[in-house]
Amino acid sequence: DFTHGVALYLDDITVSFDGFKALNALTLAVNVGELRCIIGPNGAGKTTMMDCITGKTRPDSGRAHFGSTIDLLRLSEPEIAQIGIGRKFQKPTVYEELSVFENLELALAADRRVRASLFSRLTGTQLDHIGEVLQTIHLLPEAQRTAGLLSHGQKQWLEIGMLLMQEPKLLLLDEPVAGMTDEETERTAELFLSLEGKHSLVVVEHDMKFVEQLTEGRKQVTVLHEGSVLAEGLLSEVQANDKVVEVYLGR
Ligand code: ADP
Repeated sequence: DFTHGVALYLDDITVSFDGFKALNALTLAVNVGELRCIIGPNGAGKTTMMDCITGKTRPDSGRAHFGSTIDLLRLSEPEIAQIGIGRKFQKPTVYEELSVFENLELALAADRRVRASLFSRLTGTQLDHIGEVLQTIHLLPEAQRTAGLLSHGQKQWLEIGMLLMQEPKLLLLDEPVAGMTDEETERTAELFLSLEGKHSLVVVEHDMKFVEQLTEGRKQVTVLHEGSVLAEGLLSEVQANDKVVEVYLGR
């Protein structure tokens, strides 16, 4: 049920690499429609956490649920990609030689249900969907432009658009504004805020100005450290937390 309740629940997750605990009894819940920012110093376990959600890494112990019923630890990585979890890595991987529109069209075809009709005409509903996504990612005027000619920020938006074509319930975003200009960063915050409510979002981010824009002074931030949650609360609260200050300064 993705109309309310918990979208993602990680419970007591531990992941070891050669005896080193990259995640150490990590527990985290993200509600349906929530936008949750995850911060934490290098090596805190943020990437490993994302890898556990997508099935790339298997925890040694713990539980991971998607919605109230789906046990993520029983699914393979491709299966998890099919059930409505979309992940964006740091680097954009758009098809540079294709147009913006064609990139979105191809992303639509990544959905098994429509792959069969890939090279036939798009239906009206599919066209509408592409139009909506183009608007959301601020690229409507660039629809016919070759993706390789877009700015770095625009390529990142296009990749988010490609994820949106598959109507994910949960979006995982790893440092989405790395390398963006201030203006692109601000527009990315607007973009994510427009997705909030319709999708659940987990954003791993280092750029505190961006986190501030995303949380609008009212959303919870989670601070990871040494594989578990060090603090949770409003950005202003966690930034004033002695333990948090210490792990950031003590690097
Ligand atoms: P973050 O994304 O917060 O920087 P990571 O999840 O990448 O942190 O890493 C957490 C810790 O686990 C780090 O100390 C890292 O060196 C270690 N680690 C991550 N992946 C592996 C791996 N495949 N093998 C060994 N150690 C790893």
